[in-house]
Amino acid sequence: MYKIGQSTDIHPFKENRKLILGGVEIPYHKGLDGHSDADALLHAIAEAILGALGMKDLGHLFDDSDEKTTNISSLIILKEVYKIMVEKGYEINNVDSLIIIEEPKMKNYLDKMVHNIAFTLNCEESCINVKATCAEKLGFIGEKKGVAAQAVVLLKKVKNNESN
Ligand code: ZN
Repeated sequence: MYKIGQSTDIHPFKENRKLILGGVEIPYHKGLDGHSDADALLHAIAEAILGALGMKDLGHLFDDSDEKTTNISSLIILKEVYKIMVEKGYEINNVDSLIIIEEPKMKNYLDKMVHNIAFTLNCEESCINVKATCAEKLGFIGEKKGVAAQAVVLLKKVKNNESN
């Protein structure tokens, strides 16, 4: 039995922040603003997994007014969502994802992102796909004001330990 989920996440650029996507710190003169490390890619993937499980958005699980989670690595958030997925008896079939960012170029970092995500979700790297595109100078992404990430995940039931 399979379940599909999708999500989109957006974060604005801000001075004096690190740019972290897919758990990789990327050299750039500004980073993404948010309560955690603002890793839009990992947030989109985590929320897509929650969606596949029929659960509410990531904000319901992680309270962004909780000081204990200020600036935490989103790899920790993804790991928490992974644990929920396993408890419900599912594993990753595959993840397809897309980062929409004007600059910097992502291509040198995509393999490392795939590695981080596969490691965190305890699956083969061949099950994880991370793509990147730009917005052709259009809109808030094209004007380098922010970044969006999208993810689609397919989960596969491996254990019969939930009612649905
Ligand atoms: Zn986010």
